Amino acid sequence: MSKFVVTAANEAQRAAWLGGTLPEVEKVRPGLWSIPVPIPINPLRYVLVYALELPDGVAIVDAGWNTDEAYDALVAGLAVAGYAITDVRAVLVTHIHPDHYGLAGRVREVSGAWIALHPADARLLRDRYDDDYVETLVEQEKALLVRSGVPQTVLDTLAGASMMIRHMVTMARPDRLVEDGDRLDLRGWDLRAVWTPGHSPGHLCFLSESRRVLFSGDHVLAKITPMVAVHPQSTPNPLADYLEALVAVRKFEVDEVLPAHEYRFKELAERVDYVIGHHEDRLEEIAEVIGAHDGITCWDIATRLTWSRPWESIQPFMRRAANNETLAHLAWLEARGRVRRTPGEANLWHSMQS
Ligand SMILES: [Zn+2]
Ligand SMILES: [Zn+2]
Repeated sequence: MSKFVVTAANEAQRAAWLGGTLPEVEKVRPGLWSIPVPIPINPLRYVLVYALELPDGVAIVDAGWNTDEAYDALVAGLAVAGYAITDVRAVLVTHIHPDHYGLAGRVREVSGAWIALHPADARLLRDRYDDDYVETLVEQEKALLVRSGVPQTVLDTLAGASMMIRHMVTMARPDRLVEDGDRLDLRGWDLRAVWTPGHSPGHLCFLSESRRVLFSGDHVLAKITPMVAVHPQSTPNPLADYLEALVAVRKFEVDEVLPAHEYRFKELAERVDYVIGHHEDRLEEIAEVIGAHDGITCWDIATRLTWSRPWESIQPFMRRAANNETLAHLAWLEARGRVRRTPGEANLWHSMQS
């Protein structure tokens, strides 16, 4: 498919992303600020926290990773907007990934802000971040990788690949559970929650109809297609959830999409169409690999797909992501009756035609 390129809403912000620097703290429009907050050891480099002015302080959309560097950047960014961290009244978290949720608890501690999260992500908190439960999650991940056909030699490295980052996330419980269609109680803002599962089961976008903007979190980004993967905490068919949730936001009439990474952009519907097309291409590519290699494992499919770099140079954590993303596409094809699996210690995949 031909590549669709979005129009950046602010050229300087796009240039900063492409140039590997941190964009400016910026007034997006009256009463609305964009604050880049650095995230460690991650090619995404920063999360864009949005500060929404209220009569008695600010609400923020996402918080950043729980590091001192991130906290300081958030404090400094709010100061540019004329606020102190103690002025934060609400933290609206798009989803539980550490670059969005990590700092929420620390912000609440100093400001007394309430934290909002969708119940489907709130449910995952304990197993993900509580030391008494996290071992179970690692075991489940390992079992999933065995069923995918991951070789024994790399199994342990892959299964524990995300544990090193856990200490950067605090276990804050949300104060308010926000469901699809809920109006957020923020004076001066007509903000409505839109449940957009897929990237995480409880991912939320926030829509302001009057200001014609969508806070899209990781659901729709300017250049990257967010990871949609099967893992122990995902729904059985996360790609179906995701594609449906893309269609759900496509209809919104907005002038600007305010994502959590990279840069702001204008064309929502066109970008959604492109991302859907990207997954359709991927589904076809996977179906073709199975057609050519009957009885192949998920892992062996993943190693044969085109990635942004050669398979040999992909880090263990990203290889696991690649495997689990492939599995999400397999689950989608299976639900549509296009492929089937023979269960075993490792599942083997077949075309329905064969
Ligand atoms: Zn995320
Ligand atoms: Zn993110």
